[in-house]
Amino acid sequence: MKRKLKILIIDDDDVDIRMMARTINASGLNATSISASGADTGEQMAMRESPDCIFIDYDLPGSNGLKLLKRLNSQQVTIPVVIVTGRGDETVAAEAIKLGAKDYIPKHKITPQRMASIVQRITTNKPASPPGESLTNAYDVSTLADHSPVIQFLVDNSGVIKVCKGQWISKLTLTPGDIEDKTIFDMAGRIPVSVLDYKRALEGNEVNGEIELNDRFFTMHYVPLHNDSHEVHAVSCFAIDITESKQSEAALKHSLMEAEELRKIKESFLANMSHEIRTPIHGILNLSDILLKTKLEGEQRKFLDAIKKSADNLLVIINDILDISKIEANKMTIENAPFNLREVINTVYDLFKPRSEERNISLEVHVADELPQTVVGDSVRFSQILNNLVNNAIKFTEHGKVRIEVALEETNDHFCIITTRVTDSGIGIPAHKLQTVFDSFMQASDDITRKYGGTGLGLSICRKLVEMQGGMIDVESEMNNGSVFTFRLPFEIVDAVEPQNTGDQKLYESSTSLHVLVVEDNEINQLVVNKIIKDWGFTGDTAATGKEALALAKQNPYDIILMDIEMPGMNGYEVTGELRRLEAGKHVPILAMTAHANTDEKEKCLQAGMNDYISKPFEAGELWQKVMSLTETMPGQTAVPEADPGKQARSGHSREASTRVTNLEYLKMMSEDNENFFRDFIRLFLDNTPDAIKELNEASQNKDWERVRYI
Ligand code: ADP
Repeated sequence: MKRKLKILIIDDDDVDIRMMARTINASGLNATSISASGADTGEQMAMRESPDCIFIDYDLPGSNGLKLLKRLNSQQVTIPVVIVTGRGDETVAAEAIKLGAKDYIPKHKITPQRMASIVQRITTNKPASPPGESLTNAYDVSTLADHSPVIQFLVDNSGVIKVCKGQWISKLTLTPGDIEDKTIFDMAGRIPVSVLDYKRALEGNEVNGEIELNDRFFTMHYVPLHNDSHEVHAVSCFAIDITESKQSEAALKHSLMEAEELRKIKESFLANMSHEIRTPIHGILNLSDILLKTKLEGEQRKFLDAIKKSADNLLVIINDILDISKIEANKMTIENAPFNLREVINTVYDLFKPRSEERNISLEVHVADELPQTVVGDSVRFSQILNNLVNNAIKFTEHGKVRIEVALEETNDHFCIITTRVTDSGIGIPAHKLQTVFDSFMQASDDITRKYGGTGLGLSICRKLVEMQGGMIDVESEMNNGSVFTFRLPFEIVDAVEPQNTGDQKLYESSTSLHVLVVEDNEINQLVVNKIIKDWGFTGDTAATGKEALALAKQNPYDIILMDIEMPGMNGYEVTGELRRLEAGKHVPILAMTAHANTDEKEKCLQAGMNDYISKPFEAGELWQKVMSLTETMPGQTAVPEADPGKQARSGHSREASTRVTNLEYLKMMSEDNENFFRDFIRLFLDNTPDAIKELNEASQNKDWERVRYI
């Protein structure tokens, strides 16, 4: 017969001592208990009685269980000790184990079974376990499973839950005792198991699933367990509470949806806003142009110029913001069409030449001879990038020069890399700002906006546009010595010089051919208007007098009549009145072409029966817009057609050049590659002007102001 075990209980609470003694009795252990109510008496009893194990309460008057444990250790007492904690404090437990306690147990968890299991374990003189195995005894494994956040069920092949482990079970307000020996079918809906998945596992499959229980979510894993005959005799089921990660996932999804929603709102806000702002800016610009053509007194012209310049700047900013938001929303597309690289470079040069002259800066351009003539790419984006860099170079240079250099870096028969370098002798950029100048809204210093204006968007757009085309952009600079911006872009080379697909052409593509009557006495104006409408593919006739116009209109069904106002004989108002009087059925839209586009003039035109008016000199785009809205080929569209932002940016800059009286840009643009048109035009001007001046002199000497007005 085995020797009776002696268990020493050291606890200051008499009730607890009795409870422990009762538990020992009920545990089925062959054991007797002795007790001590304080640290000192406990230590003495331990030495004197040599118990088989000691249960020491952590809270001892004037001391604590750990201190006592230390004292026993220092006395070389090797009796196994279990620390009993009142609060289940993990740090006390960890400290106890460190000091050599064999176990720890919260008071409320002491059951007869547990007592038996602990005492047996710590008093059995097992041979020393090889290192590493000490933690694999059944008790430790079972404790491990008990404390695991994973719920584990071992279900036999008839559905009976044999084992149920895991800390989480208490959250189901169940104990293992409520679950063990019940069937999975009984417990379905109360514990996180799926009967279906269990059955599939019984068929030999490892199964993963998810289940919701009492508003919590579990991921489940089922593993079939085989006996020696390779039959599935049980299934181990694991369930992990994933409610928190599910909730974070849902929150994340929600945030993503919100972010996407916000992005869409921002995008449409920007698109609407820029449209809404652009329309009045165009109004301001057009009206400024009109006003600039009138007689202005004192500082009025200066103020008007300032208004126009501000509106121009505003337009550039709006376009930049729209560009950036388009790029960020991945809505910016890069065209691939053949274009003449030299032409684009020259256009940029022509555009900035007047500005550089105004600022006394020399603007040079050098294009390498070996540059291919026609490449495939996006000409609008190329010129947008170059525009931006040249614009900055001129803006930030007080004196000296700006040089554009375009070189062929690498080439084979089909592809090439073109390097474009814009060098200036301007203010330079501090070294530590060299890379951030490419970031949105970044400027090299705080006073840049005040001194030079700008928003810090241009270079960011440039970098993005260059990268979208598979290229790279870089800057080198030295303070007060200038900057060099270099961008490299790959292009495909094509032999054929295909007609350049300019933005303007694109604007007029959708037209249906119209039959137009041009009523105009001035030969130069006739030439201009006829050239424009011919380019659009329209047909028509020209009348030099009101009489001719009436005769032609009677015979031909025109889609629209473009009516000059100042004509000798019948003027435009009279011709219109007559036309409207004779009109039977079809109402032909009449667009007045007037040199005096003020509000009175407009009123007069409308009263005379015309539908709209355009002031001379006009740009082809403006005329197109008016013609289209009157002939309703583009219903609803009243503003100037929305070219893409790159072009807008260009048109923003180019306005000045195109409306100058002495500038031949406009004529050049109109004549495109048609030398004859260009020459005819100049010849006509040279032929007619001396007579016109002579007539003007005569009329003014005779004080015939009516005549002067007509001439
Ligand atoms: P913005 O010119 O509208 O401010 P950019 O993005 O085009 O915006 O340029 C960002 C900044 O980079 C400018 O504000 C300026 O500080 C600096 N920068 C750009 N180009 C030059 C240049 N050629 N010389 C000196 N500084 C420049």
